[in-house]
Amino acid sequence: MKLDRTIRLEGDRDPNFARQVMAIPGCERLKDCIQCGTCSGVCPLSLYMDHGPRQVMALARAGFREEALRSRTLWLCASCYACTTECPRQIRITDILYELKQRAIREGLAPRTLPTPTLAREFAAMVSRRGRVTESELVMRLYWKTDWLAALGNWRLGLGLMKRGRFPLRPERAAGAAELRRMLEDRGEAEEGTKEVARS
Ligand code: SF4
Ligand code: SF4
Repeated sequence: MKLDRTIRLEGDRDPNFARQVMAIPGCERLKDCIQCGTCSGVCPLSLYMDHGPRQVMALARAGFREEALRSRTLWLCASCYACTTECPRQIRITDILYELKQRAIREGLAPRTLPTPTLAREFAAMVSRRGRVTESELVMRLYWKTDWLAALGNWRLGLGLMKRGRFPLRPERAAGAAELRRMLEDRGEAEEGTKEVARS
């Protein structure tokens, strides 16, 4: 029987990575993982993941930064919190996955073949710009940047939503958008390329 094995080298590790993840409030218990596998066992989507949540925790803790950040698991996670609820060491697995997602986007390591990272990036950019999300614009940007042909198959749905006022075409803006923008900038969390639009 042929065995597929990935050899990981000590030199691939980033010794500071686990510390950086654990510095995020709520993520500090990553170091307590006993690799029991409960999280992967209860995860309804682990079947489709390249690494189950248990493996992602192990990769992050061991400092295999790139492998953890490139994992499709981050984007398949449905945020159901089943793993977090069942973890015997009270590790906030779902929140750690969120942290890894943010890092993957920031560092350009999110897979380009999945629409979820593009959706997350466009959502965050829109909130940075105007403090609100305009669904129609979000959907159009998503289709444009991932699979614009798919929009053709959903035009009926879009029209129906528009008729019911659920899909406004006019961009929406929150009253406190400028303050929110300043807060995000102070925290270094504003999306790149949105400054001019936000101030216009
Ligand atoms: S359930 Fe908790 S302790 Fe067990 S492998 Fe998952 S993260 Fe680690
Ligand atoms: S939160 Fe994500 S990783 Fe955890 S059980 Fe649900 S889908 Fe799986």
